[in-house]
Amino acid sequence: MNKVAFYTLGCKLNFAETSTIARTFLENGFSITKFEDKSDVYVINTCTVSQRADKECRKIIRSIIRRSPKAYVIVTGCYAQLRPEEIASIEGVDLVLGTTEKFNIQNYLPNLDKSKSPQIYVSELSENNDFGIAYSGDVDDRTRAFLKVQDGCDFNCSFCTIPLARGDSRSLPIKSVLQQARYLADRGYKEIVLSGVNVGDYGKKDGENLQMLLKSLVQIEGIERIRISSIEPNLLSTDLINFILDNEKLCNHFHVPLQSGSNEILKMMRRRYTAENYQNLINDINRKDPNAAVGADVIVGFPGETEKHFLETYQLLLDLPVSYLHVFTYSERPNTPAAEFENRVEPRIRFERNRKLRLLSKKKKTNFFSKFLNKYVQVLFESNHEDGYIYGFTRNYIRVRTEYSENLVNKIVPVQIISIDDDVCVASLQSEILTV
Ligand code: SF4
Repeated sequence: MNKVAFYTLGCKLNFAETSTIARTFLENGFSITKFEDKSDVYVINTCTVSQRADKECRKIIRSIIRRSPKAYVIVTGCYAQLRPEEIASIEGVDLVLGTTEKFNIQNYLPNLDKSKSPQIYVSELSENNDFGIAYSGDVDDRTRAFLKVQDGCDFNCSFCTIPLARGDSRSLPIKSVLQQARYLADRGYKEIVLSGVNVGDYGKKDGENLQMLLKSLVQIEGIERIRISSIEPNLLSTDLINFILDNEKLCNHFHVPLQSGSNEILKMMRRRYTAENYQNLINDINRKDPNAAVGADVIVGFPGETEKHFLETYQLLLDLPVSYLHVFTYSERPNTPAAEFENRVEPRIRFERNRKLRLLSKKKKTNFFSKFLNKYVQVLFESNHEDGYIYGFTRNYIRVRTEYSENLVNKIVPVQIISIDDDVCVASLQSEILTV
């Protein structure tokens, strides 16, 4: 047994955690192969944000068991924490590990046995005081590192299953984040994406906060960009916006979940802001920096969402300077208050609303990209390349493509945007860059 392959579903936090699990395998003499290739062990790090996520997890698990019936199949992550028996009932699964156990995966490997029934190790989250330091990097081909600084959530939004799967909000102290960031800088990483379930809540229980963390992080030499993966609207203060926009190292990219543009629905969702608060926040960012990217999460088809409520959401987003949307179709999650709410929206209507908002997102993105046509932007190119092209991101989260050159990998390079191809901007390079 010396080869392992990974499959990650869900958020950036999950990806960071998979990288950490992968490092434990490397330290124990394993080599990592692609999930599509033959392996001795397959680890699937799951997500349970929606019914669709659960279904996708089961599909991946079944397909790997069909393809490699002799390999060991280990399933962990949020879905494993909440529904271990459901996963273990899939014939061919060998081991199910919960949120706490996943970082000690090596302890369970010696007892893997294909002839026995699946083993389940999932402890109650009340016992879970662990943080589980995690960052992506080293083992996956990235020039941006996703660094986990926070985990869990205390907000209890009525639709959300994450606090059940990940427990209470907790953070990695600033001192430890700085250690991790220095390590990543030494390994050549230029961008850090601060990841967590509720990053804006960072440090609250330890007398620290996100702004304090950012102030320290910008001092680290070698790290040229710091991006916040997502921040709740009620935790994004004017002070914090100003601080981010005033510092070159901090990306002018704000991902701020909206979820609904209707105050009635927001109240039912137990969100902690109104549509007007959200509107003022996004307009404020845009007034201060019209080039800043603003992304929003939206849920359609929440129980009780009428056409009128949906139109309120649609109109709000249409009018706001938002650059892209992540649209989620509401699905009932077991053990959440919203799953018991009346006036469920028909699936057909949920999907139709999703389609309308995805179309709006496409238009928003194209409008945002158009502002930069023929302009020069700074792109951090990643090491991944395909079909002769290399990709990277600007500070304000525009994905850019240009012709591949080894000289571009992990460099921040000025390029001119010449056209838009769906969700990517196409750029041309000044020829001297290629010879540097
Ligand atoms: S803020 Fe709400 S939606 Fe986000 S993780 Fe916490 S409970 Fe879930």
